[in-house]
Amino acid sequence: MDKNKILIDLSHTIENGLITYKGLPAPIICDYLSREKSKKYYEEGTEFQIGKIEMVSNTGTYIDCPFHRYENGKDLSEVDLKHFVDLDALVIRIPHTETKEITEEHLKNIKIRNRAVLIQTGWDEYWNTEKYFEDNPYLTKGAAEFLRNSSVKLVGIDSHNIDDTKGKSRPVHTVLLGADILIVEHLCNLNLLPDKGFSFYAVPPKFKGIGTFPVRAFAKLNNNK
Ligand SMILES: [Zn+2]
Repeated sequence: MDKNKILIDLSHTIENGLITYKGLPAPIICDYLSREKSKKYYEEGTEFQIGKIEMVSNTGTYIDCPFHRYENGKDLSEVDLKHFVDLDALVIRIPHTETKEITEEHLKNIKIRNRAVLIQTGWDEYWNTEKYFEDNPYLTKGAAEFLRNSSVKLVGIDSHNIDDTKGKSRPVHTVLLGADILIVEHLCNLNLLPDKGFSFYAVPPKFKGIGTFPVRAFAKLNNNK
């Protein structure tokens, strides 16, 4: 592969039975038409599998569009493709071992305007373990307001939720989605990225009436030469 176009996969693998979010069911991934049963429809040696998936839309590494939070917000089909691709991006590293509460102080004096801001906490190390679901790192309302006022394009995090889930309010979702700023949660591999010099991609399918969906989130490193 062209080394000037290095791709880094930032998505978890979605598997049958693997819970992403505590309290929501795991996906059921199975055959609708198995290879064995398909044989009768085709000539000898020709077979197919047609899969069937039953899942909540908040599964795996997913993107939130405004409709997730707001009835009249844009759903997956209404957000323009340009908001999902080739976003000039950067990583801000705030290890969960240092703090779980990410405030505007962590975001100041960094060039974030018009960029996708990815926050690496390292929480993805607990993916697919009980520890992942509770006491996760999160942004404060003040951090969300700072990001909104800085006109960022998208905010991503490698945590279970970008909000503090201990209470009933979700101010980060409220502030960001209320300003049409997309959110990507359950990212991974952010440690493989440089601090800047890459673009971010996270494209969902084009469903009507759905605000959140799994994405194959990835980064494409820029040509530095
Ligand atoms: Zn969310």
